[in-house]
Amino acid sequence: MKINSINFNGKKALVRVDFNVPLDDNYNVTDDNRIKAAVPTIEHILNNGGAAILVSHLGRPEKKLLPDGSMNKERFTLEHVVDTLRQNLPGRVVKFINAITGPAVQDAANKLQPGEVLLLENTRFDKGEKKGDETFAQALAALADVYINDAFGSAHREHASTATVTKFFTPENRAFGFLMENEIINATKALNSDTRPITAITGGAKVSDKLLLLENLLNRVDNLIIGGGMSYTFSKAQGGKIGNSICEDDKMELALDLLKKAAAKGVNVILPLDTKIADGFSNDANTKFVEAGQIPDNWEGLDIGPKTIDLFGKVLLESKTILWNGPVGVFEFENFAAGTRAIAEYVAKATELGAFSLIGGGDSVAAVKQMGLLDKVSFASTGGGAMLEFLEGKELPGIKAMEA
Ligand code: AMP
Repeated sequence: MKINSINFNGKKALVRVDFNVPLDDNYNVTDDNRIKAAVPTIEHILNNGGAAILVSHLGRPEKKLLPDGSMNKERFTLEHVVDTLRQNLPGRVVKFINAITGPAVQDAANKLQPGEVLLLENTRFDKGEKKGDETFAQALAALADVYINDAFGSAHREHASTATVTKFFTPENRAFGFLMENEIINATKALNSDTRPITAITGGAKVSDKLLLLENLLNRVDNLIIGGGMSYTFSKAQGGKIGNSICEDDKMELALDLLKKAAAKGVNVILPLDTKIADGFSNDANTKFVEAGQIPDNWEGLDIGPKTIDLFGKVLLESKTILWNGPVGVFEFENFAAGTRAIAEYVAKATELGAFSLIGGGDSVAAVKQMGLLDKVSFASTGGGAMLEFLEGKELPGIKAMEA
């Protein structure tokens, strides 16, 4: 069912959101984008006469246990996001209960009035969440009439609140929220596009993180640009000298294999021509530009060079569909951000010229945000790992369960 076709009047909606937001040492929310992203769905439910019961995880309490083996509830409680949530839902009654299941939660849900919001505690405080436990999912489902999944960032997890819970709602009573709907529509559009040329830019640190992505892209794109740390594995595999640059020797065979497959499929693989090298992994290191594959000993490549920027830019400006995953350099260091900035500008320009551009599945969204160009691309995903898996061609459990 589509969220727009559900009548929320007088109903309670269990809404799986992604409030896994960053917190500072005093537990203040330092970036409320994920909370903001859930607002349209929440407001829609409330404006249509419904009440919203919000569930989310926050961090990994099951991994960061206290010395006595118990969960650190003080650090991982969702109570930390309540003030920010209230600021984002002005004029709304927003309640919080420090439990996820049990009689007090059921009672709070029963008392919830149309137009009100109830946030439950971190779903990962219950061991059943990550196991996809049916009893836990059923207890959540018992709180509401309708289930809405708006947590795209958690869609690659087969957890109780993202997947199992759908079993307890009929297809007419469950739907994706607007955020998730948008992510799916845009990712599908980019991945299945036949508006050519289609260009993928991939970067980031490791080939091993991106192998499945590269394999899947080979079946879909005309141009595959490879930059970032992972390009040095390709360079070394082709006989280049890469000095101390990041490299996965055990992936060199696979890299060559990918290049062969690309050639067989007629995909144009574009690797860097030159590189900005440094004599240490630091913003203050000495730097120079060298040709790709000619990095001296004790130096390492931390960004693409100007010839590469021109080459990548030319391909991007001619593209009609662009998918971007991963920065082409260590953009966190100002002195090595120029390549990623230039790529962001070219993607923005190509978008202005009519291309459809999607950014997601890695640190590239953070990079584009840092460069202030987020509103100049067609779509920037909120889901890091989830978008990466989507672009790898995997079926995400959170999507599959809803559509079952
Ligand atoms: P990902 O999350 O896969 O998009 O990877 C992003 C990370 O890759 C960023 O933290 C970048 O600093 C890193 N990265 C990009 N280029 C390089 C490089 N040449 N050497 C080392 N790390 C890099």
